[in-house]
Amino acid sequence: MLLRSRIVLPMTTPPLLDGAVRVAHNRITDVGTAAQLPPGSGEEVLDLGAVALLPGLINAHCHLDYSSLRHAITAPAGFTEWVQRLNSIKRQLSNDDILDAIRRGYAEAQRFGTTTICSMAAFPDLIPQLPPARLRTWWFYEMIDIRHRNTSDDVVAGALSFFDARQDDLTQFGLNPHAPYTASLLLYRLAWACAQQNGMPLTTHVSESLEESEMFEKSSGPLYAFLEGLLRPMHDCGHDTPFGWLWRNGAIGSDWLLAHMNDLKASDFALLDALPKDRLPNVVHCPGSHAYFKHPPFPFARLAGMGVNISVGTDSLASTDSLSLLSELRKLHLGEPGLSAEDLLHTVTLAPARALGKEGELGCISPGALADLIAIPCSGHLPLAAAECIAHTGPVSWMMVDGKISEFETV
Ligand SMILES: [Zn+2]
Repeated sequence: MLLRSRIVLPMTTPPLLDGAVRVAHNRITDVGTAAQLPPGSGEEVLDLGAVALLPGLINAHCHLDYSSLRHAITAPAGFTEWVQRLNSIKRQLSNDDILDAIRRGYAEAQRFGTTTICSMAAFPDLIPQLPPARLRTWWFYEMIDIRHRNTSDDVVAGALSFFDARQDDLTQFGLNPHAPYTASLLLYRLAWACAQQNGMPLTTHVSESLEESEMFEKSSGPLYAFLEGLLRPMHDCGHDTPFGWLWRNGAIGSDWLLAHMNDLKASDFALLDALPKDRLPNVVHCPGSHAYFKHPPFPFARLAGMGVNISVGTDSLASTDSLSLLSELRKLHLGEPGLSAEDLLHTVTLAPARALGKEGELGCISPGALADLIAIPCSGHLPLAAAECIAHTGPVSWMMVDGKISEFETV
């Protein structure tokens, strides 16, 4: 099949005016101008018209489970209070509520151009009940051993049984030791070994809030008091920053996707500065959630300057107002006006593809890549095409996932 559009934004090469993309089965085989790629005899041609065709967007951090919780927790006094209120809401949700939330979350993500989503799985038992995925999905099994009754070994055994539970063409799995305040070093290390054995990606929340920093650096603050009250062993506090604690103890490394990394201290930057460029971890920034919690400014320029691979995610609707990645890019741009439209698109295409070990397969339009594509209305002025795409607030006009043209679910 030959796709034609006013503009093609391949991401790995310059934009093309009057572009064409050839797709065979679920892969892209050719990219060029329409003049360079005439249709083969009998080849189906789909002219998408006045649009920019770009790789499907990749949401590097999301919690589809919480997609019914938009505006459910307004104005928390701090991160700990938000966690407590989320936990109390979660206890009231039925399985059907959660399945419906996942369905709504998928539909919203798809409507705004996401073709790949990395979703944390707080209710992994429900995943086998979902219909076949419409979007390429990594479900990251959430692992927590904060309470004594869950041993780290039990948590890993649960994760292993989860991988057998469901297989479709678009669903894959990863592991998510939740955060240094909810998962032990032992659990992190077991998860890492398990993921390496099974070729899976790993992610965790780290250095997200000032309260998390206060707990680890000073053994004090609201998160410390809350978790001490839950009888969490607190001997890991009072030594280091959350990121420093995990890294220096061999619990995380360069192949991880580290969500947030908001509150980094001089010692964290020194640690990162000392690493060879190819040993830096991947970072996921969630601009809407960041603003919701009023975290200290995210050190985008400093991390990017070091060579850190930064992706953008939405986080959950319990702490942001939209699952649109383009909306997240607009929020990021408000705080980082120096980023070009191309830099911004990089964080939802090439950067997360690299973080997932899918460079050349996802996040780009190039021969050999998977045929995950979206179309966004575009005037056809080449230098402004990327900026026009980011400014687009409505639904995308067309989508293909894994070589199949998508239908959009209305919710
Ligand atoms: Zn998260």
